[in-house]
Amino acid sequence: MARYTSVKAARQSKRERRCYRCARSIEVGQPYFTADFKTGRSGFTRDWCADHTPRPSEMTQSEYRSAAYAVQESIEDFLSTSGWELQDLVTELESAAESVRNDIVDALHDSAGNFENGGGIAEELEDRASQFDDWASSLDTAASEVEGLIEELGDDPSEEATEEAREAAQRLADDASMECPE
Ligand SMILES: [Zn+2]
Repeated sequence: MARYTSVKAARQSKRERRCYRCARSIEVGQPYFTADFKTGRSGFTRDWCADHTPRPSEMTQSEYRSAAYAVQESIEDFLSTSGWELQDLVTELESAAESVRNDIVDALHDSAGNFENGGGIAEELEDRASQFDDWASSLDTAASEVEGLIEELGDDPSEEATEEAREAAQRLADDASMECPE
């Protein structure tokens, strides 16, 4: 679980600070709470206004983030198995895209729906949902590009051509995996 710190006076920041509980904007000079969350390769920050001390439930990393990390791990694991087939990578990437849509995008839409008058929070959740939806599209695109590589190889490819295609496919998969929103 992350730890939060108490800040006496908010400094100027490019990032807009909003209370995670009440969505109130935290202005320069106001006291607030803040916490940085680390998730695998990336991280994110949550802030709270002075009236809302962070609660344990708010300090736990959200489920959709761990779902996102699981998708990346699955691709990583697949690519680290020896002798993987291009066609299986297509399947892997397609199912990764499906997981992102089913486990993350839908969950974010549901959460946003829970804040009827949520304003900032609901908006933020919808924003994230569309970012993750874009990620799912990138994974689908990578899957089609790997299919393209398979077609280029034809029916009876040389060992060298196969190896080159595998390297290109691995790069496509890695790049798509890294497009996970922060
Ligand atoms: Zn608040």
